[in-house]
Amino acid sequence: MDLRQLMKAAILGPRVSREPMSFRQLINALRPRTLLPLEKAGVKPGLYHYLREANGTFTRFHLRVDSTGGVLLANASAATHLRASGVIIAKGLLEGERPAVIADRLVRSFRGVTPAQAAADVDRLDRILTELTSPGDNYPILNLADPAFSPELAPLDRPLSADLPLAEPELLVPILDRLWELGIPHVTLVAGEDPDAAALVRAVERAEDLGLIAGVRGQGSVLAAGTLLRDLARAGVDHVDLTYLSAQPEVHDALAGSGDHEQATRAMVELGENEVCPVAEVALVESTLEGIEETLQSLASRGVGNAAFYAVAMTEGKSTGGALRADELIEAARLVEESAEESSVRYLWYPPVRFHLGSSLAAHVRRGPRAGGDHAVRVEPDGSVIPARGPHVSAGNLLKDAWETIRNSEVFCRYRRRVESDTHCDDCPGLAICAADCPRNPAGWADGRRVEDE
Ligand code: SF4
Repeated sequence: MDLRQLMKAAILGPRVSREPMSFRQLINALRPRTLLPLEKAGVKPGLYHYLREANGTFTRFHLRVDSTGGVLLANASAATHLRASGVIIAKGLLEGERPAVIADRLVRSFRGVTPAQAAADVDRLDRILTELTSPGDNYPILNLADPAFSPELAPLDRPLSADLPLAEPELLVPILDRLWELGIPHVTLVAGEDPDAAALVRAVERAEDLGLIAGVRGQGSVLAAGTLLRDLARAGVDHVDLTYLSAQPEVHDALAGSGDHEQATRAMVELGENEVCPVAEVALVESTLEGIEETLQSLASRGVGNAAFYAVAMTEGKSTGGALRADELIEAARLVEESAEESSVRYLWYPPVRFHLGSSLAAHVRRGPRAGGDHAVRVEPDGSVIPARGPHVSAGNLLKDAWETIRNSEVFCRYRRRVESDTHCDDCPGLAICAADCPRNPAGWADGRRVEDE
């Protein structure tokens, strides 16, 4: 709008209300807009993808930039929030710029930053990048905020990952494209009980072509069939999450189906041969919790260094199969975390799944978790977005709605309020599961349809 148009607008007022523009509004409208630091530095919002080599291995970095900051994700396993200054530094370092050039850009983009401070910040983020190149416990994806960089940033505005059930390519391809467009860099395809192997491989290829981190989740007896794992490896799959319930085959097979334990262990070997990262997915129920130490030791001995846990839980009574009661979950979490640390297996927590009477425990376990943690959402093949916790209710449609509309929906706001509110107490200090929500509170469970209703 030029000056003449502005003056005219001030006289006539906005077209709808016909109220005249106040003098203050006119001054504000005429004042040149102050550029944000990222704009000054020439960094545009979007998703950037990099490969960084260290000691002969490559780490994939995704840098998601919004107008005020961003998130840096290393492979599928480590992430940190960044303020605008961190984004400028990370982008520069990942693009191979000299530290002095980056420090100079910081000084020009932020008022009051001295060259010495800028150089120290570049050095600090360079060290963070080095740590992220070989992720350890310092940056579990469960706890995204890097206190040194951005303690005040809420991690849940936009997910980092989506769990997407396998469907026909004409349904999946637009969703994968949209995930990339929205800056959601990681997808886990849920194979289900009888997947179309060719469609699964094509979905992984599509995700990889876009630059997404792509994982597949399923049971051993499904994924170890024929050449599927080798084909997925060739397509570039980054991780495969296998149901692994117990070191005892009879305990595992009672829930996952006869012969599945053998197939799951065979799949682990095959993944190792094809240099694909295996992740064990462990449902916690009475029978699997009983042998959890042995299970974690067996994973470590098979070279599986990552395990994701979720409880199948109920509020009252007793299930015939052994879902855990709400008041048993804290002790279960403590046992899992201690056993995982002893076995040096890195653990992730997914929200508990509510057990529905009328469905078998095995059916719950075979369906698996709703989403891979609180940095993730479930996206159904029709585009419906379901938050990781709470009722199975859509917050909006990924293909039709702007992310802001989904984020501001009542369903998503309720979920965020639940996870962001301070539910913590001092009963079990140091328990990682407490980072997002207290497991004993059913309001934070993934609740929803009976298995038979799906
Ligand atoms: S809020 Fe955290 S510390 Fe308190 S009981 Fe729950 S898990 Fe334990």
